[in-house]
Amino acid sequence: MSNKWVYLFHEGDRSMRDLLGGKGAGLAEMSNAGLPVPPGFTCTTEACLAFFSAGRQFPEGMWEQVVEAMHATERETGKVFGDAKNPLLVSVRSGARVSMPGMMETVLNIGLNSETLKGLAELSGNERFAYDSYRRLISMFGRTVKDIKGELFEAVLDRFKAQTKGGRDTDLTVDMLKEVVAAYKELYRNQLGEEFPEDVWEQLRQAITAVFDSWFGPNAATYRRFHGISDDWGTAVNICTMVFGNMGDDSGTGVAFTRNPNTGEPELYGEYLTNAQGEDVVAGIRTPFPIAELERINPEIYAEFLRLGKMLEGHYRDMQDLELTVERGKLWMLQTRSGKRTARAAVKIAVDQVSEGLITKEEAVMRVTPDQVDALVHPVFDEKAKKAAQGRGDLLTHGLNASPGAATGVAIFDSARAEAAAGMGQDVILVRPETSPDDVGGMLSSKGVLTQHGGATSHAAVVARANNLPCVVGCEAINVDVERRQFTIGKRTIREGDTVSIDGFTGEVFAGTITTVEPDLSREHDLATLLSWADEVRTLGIYTNADHPREAKVARSFGAEGIGLCRTEHMFFEETRRPTVVSMIMARTDEARAKFLARLLPYQREDFEGIFEAMDGLPTIVRLIDPPMHEFLPSRESLIEEVTRLRCTDENPKLLAEKEEMLALVNSLHEINPMMGLRGCRVGLTMGGVTEMQVQAIFEAACRQAKKGVDVHVEVMIPLVTHVNELKAEVTKLRQVAEEVMEREGVRVDHKFGTMIETPRGAVTADELAEYAEFFSFGTNDLTQMSFGFSRDDAEGKFLKTYVDRGILPKNPFQSLDQTGVGKLMAMAVKAGKQTRPDIELGICGEHGGDADSIDFCHRVGLKYVSCSPYRVPVARLAAAQAALRNR
Ligand code: ADP
Ligand code: MG
Ligand code: MG
Repeated sequence: MSNKWVYLFHEGDRSMRDLLGGKGAGLAEMSNAGLPVPPGFTCTTEACLAFFSAGRQFPEGMWEQVVEAMHATERETGKVFGDAKNPLLVSVRSGARVSMPGMMETVLNIGLNSETLKGLAELSGNERFAYDSYRRLISMFGRTVKDIKGELFEAVLDRFKAQTKGGRDTDLTVDMLKEVVAAYKELYRNQLGEEFPEDVWEQLRQAITAVFDSWFGPNAATYRRFHGISDDWGTAVNICTMVFGNMGDDSGTGVAFTRNPNTGEPELYGEYLTNAQGEDVVAGIRTPFPIAELERINPEIYAEFLRLGKMLEGHYRDMQDLELTVERGKLWMLQTRSGKRTARAAVKIAVDQVSEGLITKEEAVMRVTPDQVDALVHPVFDEKAKKAAQGRGDLLTHGLNASPGAATGVAIFDSARAEAAAGMGQDVILVRPETSPDDVGGMLSSKGVLTQHGGATSHAAVVARANNLPCVVGCEAINVDVERRQFTIGKRTIREGDTVSIDGFTGEVFAGTITTVEPDLSREHDLATLLSWADEVRTLGIYTNADHPREAKVARSFGAEGIGLCRTEHMFFEETRRPTVVSMIMARTDEARAKFLARLLPYQREDFEGIFEAMDGLPTIVRLIDPPMHEFLPSRESLIEEVTRLRCTDENPKLLAEKEEMLALVNSLHEINPMMGLRGCRVGLTMGGVTEMQVQAIFEAACRQAKKGVDVHVEVMIPLVTHVNELKAEVTKLRQVAEEVMEREGVRVDHKFGTMIETPRGAVTADELAEYAEFFSFGTNDLTQMSFGFSRDDAEGKFLKTYVDRGILPKNPFQSLDQTGVGKLMAMAVKAGKQTRPDIELGICGEHGGDADSIDFCHRVGLKYVSCSPYRVPVARLAAAQAALRNR
């Protein structure tokens, strides 16, 4: 017996999602729950994979099973596929495991040919409808199965629409539709050199093949790569009896969400089109009415739909995205799935559903992604700047606010060019008449999307919402001219390359740049609630990387529980302090240097006072000076240039002498490979007095604040240690400085001395380091750089992208921790450190501390905290909670 490749809707259920795809599993589940679903069946994802491994052949037995299932469907509907009197028509619909919105298209009305067309016309008593369905089949089949350009069909249709009064497709007469069909067939013949298939089984076979093939089509591949979806999931194919929304004014089609996917409000949200087939809403060709319109047209159907929506939401315990069709006053359900939603809606829905008793707090925490939290703490347009722009006449138009967020960039009118421009580092706003699956690559590389047509469930809107991309659609007032690369509104023209700003919260479109402001988390009540639930379950502490009191305050307001990395060098970079810093570096003896260090001391002390005050009650980990010394000096190139110029002109001998001296110093400090040169603890060990001064400043600040009643917990971190003797020497020396200060100030403060683990040798000898370190903080930026032997700046700019594109590396290891390599070093260091010092405090301060996957790793390896930038703190709180729940 061959495998089972085909399942009737009645034979499946929602647990079979991997096999039947999301859509197939939903249809199966609804059929079995007694909802009005047109009969049909699903060819499995395994059949798709088998198709490819057999060199694009249906696996053995599959076609026979399809034929058998078609017969079962005929029995259930009382219609016959290809029958001239009572024809069965079906749709062929793709459906992968997770929904990939609009990626693989559907063919409707399979089963129509010149014979069955007559039958359909007679049976329905509606010739217009029959021809309308036929022309849709030819164009959809031509486009989707045969790759004929959609514009060619549209041009034909537009030609006929132009001859009507209303100019809409519903205004076409029967005779016109007959001519459209004839013109479509001719177009088909001219394009392909073959006739549109009369054999309905041939139509079916080719359509199924095309859906399978689309799995490896370029659009699907782009989408998968972006979302990290595996190539070997495959797509299922659903064959579903047609129901007709285009049978007249008592018919129609719609798409609706059980809650508002934009705001999360608990209200039915969607769109409805009378006398239309489903594609019309999704493709954004006709701008539809809000679903509330259905309530006016047919209150009973609306009420029934509302009831089924509630039921499905309860059943799936999540907001559902539904497709409905009304055929002559009867409601049919064509799809249910968990609805895509904006970040704001995701949070609100999760919180509401907990208070409705639908889901638990823990489920709510798992329902929202770290990226969605990130989107909520992103900047919004400054209201004042918007007013000003409006005053200047730069508010161009108001479209539909399809996906929230503020975006500014150059207008680009084509997806390929948008991708190219984004690749060059430009911020792009993709502007299109409407979008199609071909635009997904361009959309994902843009900062925002603007379309002339389409509603809130159009392709552009759905893809944008799913990807946290600000999006404004349905700007009917603008006229997008793709050929001339511009859009016009009134007398004004925006050309490709001009800057525009779109506000996805309000639907406003501006010319030029609008400044943004940071979001106010205290106004995001739902997010605060959700994060408080996250805090109940997470075990990882969330610290922040902050160098200034201002950053420390922001991070605290976002929920940070400490500073994991306070860098000290920025204090040296400030203009007024620069000359002193340079003299300090130039000093040839420790005595000479001491004079300049003494001048720097009060500055450093003041900076720390502010930070300790902001962190009252929470730990602050201060890293001693780290960067290569040359970073504090003028650039060698510019000095050479100036010296040369001064020598030639001879205009200022005094200045020349100064510059020459500076150049000599810079030359003496010049390093071939500064990232591996004189930096980190090596500075403290070789330039007497520098780290002593820093520790003196830190402890004086700490003691003084303590005396004012501030609760100070300071941890001094020594960077870039590779050998235990480095740490031993620094810690011994600096502890003594700290003791002297506390003695002098007459107060003791809680403190620790520890080290960063950021070189492979440091990690490997962590047991030795723990003798002198009371804490470790993994500096995973350097640790990654040195483990791979990649210079980060060179790698990211040159070859890393190629590596990731070609799959040589699964991800950029500077963004997401390389768990197998760098992670192994960390795990080793954790174990060895604990062996020597069981209560050693362990954390991470590299940029990975804000990355969700890396946070999951940190949880598993047993760190106490992760430290990330202030605006990542909310994200990290959620990610840490998810890690705890996932690894329970
Ligand atoms: P997508 O995954 O892009 O949503 P679908 O397969 O769900 O693709 O369908 C595209 C459109 O065609 C939807 O509006 C859907 O409701 C409609 N449709 C699909 N199958 C049928 C059918 N059997 N009868 C009527 N309309 C259908
Ligand atoms: Mg659908
Ligand atoms: Mg480092």
